[in-house]
Amino acid sequence: MKPALIVHGGCGTPPAGEEPERMAACERAATIGWQVLRDGGSALDAVEAAVRQLEDEPVLNAGTGSYLQADGVARMDASIMSSDGRAGSVAQVPWLKNPISLSRYLLEQDAHVMLCGQEALQLALKLGHQTYVVATPAKVQYWLDHLDEASRKLDYAAMAHSWKQDNPRLGTVGCVAIDAAGKLAAGTSTGGTGQCFPGRIGDTPIIGAGTYCTPKVAVSMTGVGERIMVLLSAKRLCDLVDAGHTLNEAAEAVMQEVKKLNSFAGIIAIDAEGNLLVTKNTPFMGVAIRT
Ligand code: ASP
Repeated sequence: MKPALIVHGGCGTPPAGEEPERMAACERAATIGWQVLRDGGSALDAVEAAVRQLEDEPVLNAGTGSYLQADGVARMDASIMSSDGRAGSVAQVPWLKNPISLSRYLLEQDAHVMLCGQEALQLALKLGHQTYVVATPAKVQYWLDHLDEASRKLDYAAMAHSWKQDNPRLGTVGCVAIDAAGKLAAGTSTGGTGQCFPGRIGDTPIIGAGTYCTPKVAVSMTGVGERIMVLLSAKRLCDLVDAGHTLNEAAEAVMQEVKKLNSFAGIIAIDAEGNLLVTKNTPFMGVAIRT
């Protein structure tokens, strides 16, 4: 099998002029993941390596560059899955540089799939994972710009109202890969959506929503988590491929479901034949491909 890999840096409308920086960040991550595949490494290793790099890119919304929640703390979500059905996921972990690697640890343990919050952080500390004060100047500025009375008082009803009025603050990172042995993997990581309720979980760590992988197809999603998680979009795409649809047909059906909810999403996917898919219904999504 010919290896291949796609990375994304999140869909949405980035601040003006940021597009080239985001594309360059995706290219750096793709190069790192591709090196793993070229050296005969597994799709899983390539996905973890690429997503770690994406998490280290301050311009993206994951790891280092995560948005801050309404209380000024970044809490991150990440998940990873391989075509043998193993998966690992973390939700709402603060102060961690590379949440994807904690997800990978859970996948390898193959005991529990999902861990959250302070207990997930405790495990990361025990494993010697790097901690990090997640607060880039740009994301702190964004938080300050949106620090209204509602979020100061944690007035949840008013916060919900203003969150729904604003343009969705999108961005997430992800990678899908196929290795020389024909094995697939998918991984996704995010700082979620800026100024959200403290503790808000998006689609990214929900296996089947933001990330899914079968022996036939690997999927990583980005977009409005609240919609993607009720649609279980990643699993849905895999089920459609399993039922005999092409990758393009399956992705089109999934995007239609998102659009029906007046929402936004981006998808990257690879199937076991090495077909690649990139689609979105937002003006921009950073992407890089290696074949
Ligand atoms: N899906 C992410 C979330 O809702 C955000 C994004 O992809 O832009 O947490």
